[in-house]
Amino acid sequence: MYDMNHLNRIKAFQAKLRRKQIDAFLVSQPFNRRYLSGYTAKDHGIAESSGALFVPARGDALLLTDFRYQTQAQQETDLRVKLYKRGLLSLLSSLIKQHEVNVFGFESHYTLHSIGLKLINLAEKQKVVLKPCLNMIEQMRIIKDQDELELIRKSVRLNEQVFSSVFKNLKAGMREIDIAAKIENQMRIAGAEAPSFETIVAAGKNGAMPHACPGPDSIDSKDSVTIDMGLILNGYCSDMTRNFTLGKPAVRYRELHRVVRKAQLAGLAKVKAGIPACDVDKAAREVISEAGYGKYFGHSLGHGVGLEVHEEPRVSPKSRQKLKPGMVITIEPGIYLPDWGGIRLENMVVVTEDGAELLNTDTTWLDI
Ligand code: ZN
Ligand code: ZN
Repeated sequence: MYDMNHLNRIKAFQAKLRRKQIDAFLVSQPFNRRYLSGYTAKDHGIAESSGALFVPARGDALLLTDFRYQTQAQQETDLRVKLYKRGLLSLLSSLIKQHEVNVFGFESHYTLHSIGLKLINLAEKQKVVLKPCLNMIEQMRIIKDQDELELIRKSVRLNEQVFSSVFKNLKAGMREIDIAAKIENQMRIAGAEAPSFETIVAAGKNGAMPHACPGPDSIDSKDSVTIDMGLILNGYCSDMTRNFTLGKPAVRYRELHRVVRKAQLAGLAKVKAGIPACDVDKAAREVISEAGYGKYFGHSLGHGVGLEVHEEPRVSPKSRQKLKPGMVITIEPGIYLPDWGGIRLENMVVVTEDGAELLNTDTTWLDI
């Protein structure tokens, strides 16, 4: 199959290489590799690579891998697949010679120090200038094209369906871990490749930890319950947090929930092309601070979502990055009280010229 998307991305990346006077580039980060080539294999850790792309500034890019991934690579990518038998470094060495490379770029944020030392050695022998680069492809991935947006919409939709099917059967007395297991089981059955991160189900005081790990505690009808879940569908992630009680909500719960909801809407109202991401964070944070809970909201307001569940842009107090149409971000304010629990609400939006397209159907807050 001849895939224009990947070919266009490679072309755009090659133009970037030429602008930076890099003769060839090694793509080792698995999601960047997939973005440019369509090859979906994952790495089981940074030391267990399932391949890399060799992208010259001009001419054909290659997918380099080993015997284990040969069939998958040939099925999934239009790029020429080259197998290494004596390791990636020795194949690289001959490609660098063959392509008469003078400046060789690599992803410094996804290269082990031990491999870096070998690269330095190789570069010295071949008199090549090594150029460590940061986020070259991540910066391209930050703006989603129409096809990607459609895949993200599907991922969000399926995630919501899974949530609804589990939510309607929840009862006080159930254990966090059983609910998390049900959710992840449903995801698989509904067609997801995997959860996009380990599902969070946190009740009562456990909810005061933003990244709580579901355990054997059973849920009391008075508890504030946080479910943060996402799945991967066709490679694209979803990420959503819902918060509720399984009995009649107490006054305090209702009060906190209203503050978080107001903060979420304030953040959402700020989203628009041209606005710095920190302003969106600020709009939501101010609502929580004014209600007196500022010090109980200790994380950023949101993050980009795409092939990875956490990617650029960061929506934090420090992020000067201006929002652009086609960026997909989460808006997820929260309040975490150590001796009570937590409330977080998270939706995903697409940045547009004049505002935001909300990707979630956003219903669970209505019954408070
Ligand atoms: Zn989340
Ligand atoms: Zn998130």
